[in-house]
Amino acid sequence: PIDLNALCDEYLRLAYHGLRAKDKSFNALFNTDLDASMGVVSVLPQDISRVLLNLFTNAFYAVQQRQKKGETPGYQPTVTVSTRCAGNEAVITVSDNGTGIPEDLKQKIFQPFFTTKPTGEGTGLGLSLAYDIVTKGHNGTLEVESKEGEGTTFIIKLPA
Ligand code: ADP
Ligand code: MG
Repeated sequence: PIDLNALCDEYLRLAYHGLRAKDKSFNALFNTDLDASMGVVSVLPQDISRVLLNLFTNAFYAVQQRQKKGETPGYQPTVTVSTRCAGNEAVITVSDNGTGIPEDLKQKIFQPFFTTKPTGEGTGLGLSLAYDIVTKGHNGTLEVESKEGEGTTFIIKLPA
């Protein structure tokens, strides 16, 4: 049984500072909206940490790319993680206001080795691994909602 809220908070910071270490000019807001009534969830912390780290890293990358494009005046890169208890499910939501995912690519992002990142920056394995960990490893679901040019939300549901 582990404290999902603590993991979310810790790994969101880790992902942000990881990106900042490579790009000092990068700044983003990161928010947590954590359900205090979240019970303990029986998950493998090392597995869920990998899932979170990948989703957060992808999210910060997406806002960084949108910022670099410079097409949105006053753009404030933001990544938010929220948790909530819904019935007997723990729900973790990771939202960003980054580049978004084009409609025709949404089906492909969970495939192993699919990446839109330049060589050396992405392996394309993060989401396929995350999908397997959540669905096969923990009997949960992983879904994506995204709009190109607006942002992306990943929703993890785990049986509590
Ligand atoms: P990688 O990060 O190595 O590219 P992933 O499996 O983590 O591999 O992600 C696959 C692809 O899905 C990314 O290259 C990107 O095109 C898309 N993607 C994932 N997360 C996001 C996001 N938050 N915003 C926009 N695109 C995303
Ligand atoms: Mg990734």
